[in-house]
Amino acid sequence: MRIGVIAIQGDVSEHVDALERALVERGEEAEIITIKHKGIVPECDGLILPGGESTTLGKLLIREGIADEVLEMKDAGKPIMGTCAGLILLAKEGDEQVARTHQHLLGLMDTKVNRNAFGRQRDSFETELELPFLDTPYNAVFIRAPGIVDSGKDVTVLAKIDSMIVAAEQGNILVLAFHPELTYDTRVHQYFLDKIF
Ligand code: GLN
Repeated sequence: MRIGVIAIQGDVSEHVDALERALVERGEEAEIITIKHKGIVPECDGLILPGGESTTLGKLLIREGIADEVLEMKDAGKPIMGTCAGLILLAKEGDEQVARTHQHLLGLMDTKVNRNAFGRQRDSFETELELPFLDTPYNAVFIRAPGIVDSGKDVTVLAKIDSMIVAAEQGNILVLAFHPELTYDTRVHQYFLDKIF
């Protein structure tokens, strides 16, 4: 198995570490590949789009020709996980800020996002989040976090904070507004790996 982590910008090494720990825990082996250029995504069995700065990430994904490969990956039914900025990039529609700045989204999920849903003064926070695939709550770390404000019928909502959707799934795509790679709890990465193995 090969798992790719888009490595253009953002918290790449943290995702690689989390995947490595999760693989050891489940006694499974996979090659983890960091991706900066075109031609590697098609060889992967699963893909992570990490957090970072979604405007920069979006621009570079297109410039490097990776954006189209991610779309093909979705069409091939291979699992994709987007965290934070990854959740923004996978959305079909953005807020006024996204529209005003002509920010490019990949549009793989039937979702509308608010890029900075939790406001500036709450830049960063942690909360115990209930997720339907876990027995006990998950300590979720939110950093300048986005949220999904609206979603289509094919989207399954996994978690909400107030009215904001912070975890969701559509087919083979899983998105989280928080950073599972920043905690030692590998259960979210395990859930993603369950889809690959
Ligand atoms: N809100 C940020 C953005 O718009 C994403 C923050 C993150 O990935 N930690 O790009």
